[in-house]
Amino acid sequence: MRQSQLFTKTQKEAPTDEQAKNAQLLIRAGYIHKEMAGAYQLLPLGLMVVQNIKQIVREEMAAWGSNELLATTLQPKDIWEKSGRWDSKVVDAWFKSELQAGGEIGFGWTHEEPLANMMKNHISSYKDLPRAIYQFQNKLRNEKRAKSGIMRGREFIMKDAYSFAATKEQHDDLYERSKQAYMNCFNRMGVGDDTYITYASGGDFTEFSHEFQTVCEAGEDITYLNKEKGIAINEEVLESVDLAELGVTKDDLVATKTAEVGNIFDFGQKKGEEMELFFNDENGERVPVWMGSYGIGITRMMGVIVEKFADDKGIVWPAAVAPYQLHLVGLNTDDSEIKDWTDGVYAALKVRGVSVLYDDREARPGEKFADSDLLGMPYRVVMSKKGKEAGTFEVVTRSTGEVRNLTEEELFADFEK
Ligand code: ATP
Ligand code: MG
Repeated sequence: MRQSQLFTKTQKEAPTDEQAKNAQLLIRAGYIHKEMAGAYQLLPLGLMVVQNIKQIVREEMAAWGSNELLATTLQPKDIWEKSGRWDSKVVDAWFKSELQAGGEIGFGWTHEEPLANMMKNHISSYKDLPRAIYQFQNKLRNEKRAKSGIMRGREFIMKDAYSFAATKEQHDDLYERSKQAYMNCFNRMGVGDDTYITYASGGDFTEFSHEFQTVCEAGEDITYLNKEKGIAINEEVLESVDLAELGVTKDDLVATKTAEVGNIFDFGQKKGEEMELFFNDENGERVPVWMGSYGIGITRMMGVIVEKFADDKGIVWPAAVAPYQLHLVGLNTDDSEIKDWTDGVYAALKVRGVSVLYDDREARPGEKFADSDLLGMPYRVVMSKKGKEAGTFEVVTRSTGEVRNLTEEELFADFEK
């Protein structure tokens, strides 16, 4: 991609009403646009990051054994009345509206009830089970506060998955394997070492749900952590967890600021019963389906990555989610001979399948370097008159600042797919 053709521009300042580092940087670097508090447009670069995060999650969801679909945002009231969760006193995050034709509707803040209801058409016998489905969707939640940038939106992208099983064994297998699938996602996104499977509240069937909490200063949660033993407990449930059973005392746990990047719930047969999602088991008896629900905050994830890796110069993307791997910065391009050379190298990189953003703009070197740091691609390759004469390319690793001087051959070999 030629930077001269990218429609977004970097900005010197973030909006004054934006307090969160993640949103300040993403806005300044032109990845997102703040529409209003808690609602951000994804601009081309921001969308690319989100697509990369989604692709990782998509692959791990497929490996887990689930199928992607897309549910509606509009949700009927009667489905939610079955579980008692239509009432705004029970669920304060609802956005609701009224149809001109009469009747109320809700905007999806989760899809547990609608998708459990839908599965009635697809599950009648134990032979139809187990099944798992997932989607990426814009969830709408009337959050009280929206001060954490894209880490807490009123509209945000979630990956939500739902599992349906005939037996406890099938169900437990799906639930346990989902933990590994989730950790695979976080490992691939570069935050695995700092992400903990955490005892949390909100279990509808079991006493606890499991959250995936990533150590992050800007996170809104406090997790009690024992890193050596890999034990993590959300402060909300610290009093209810049997610490002795886990082999720790409270003194072994360190209160740590974290961000909830995922949450999985074991519903047992309760949700199936509530939603009247029954099937005929092997004995021909009608019993409720075992259900689980599994969320990952896709856009929150992007915010957490920015918060964790950014430095005082700007964003630093892990390679797995970066919009481009390489930022090719052409200097001295007012000299037509240099310009032809940089254009040629850009074309050669593209032919080799390298993911490259090419700064072909007429701008001062200082401005190009500052923008390149702010945008945060993993590697910057500087092409200059001096380099051409020396026959080398200066390659800077964004995360470490390491500088290497590579020949053209070495450059192609390093970045070729
Ligand atoms: P929180 O406690 O942060 O409000 P939650 O427990 O209400 O989140 P879940 O219903 O568990 O959220 O949703 C699944 C995942 O979606 C969360 O683990 C989180 O990563 C993400 N998420 C939830 N609310 C938001 C939001 N307002 N903005 C961005 N991501 C969110
Ligand atoms: Mg949660």
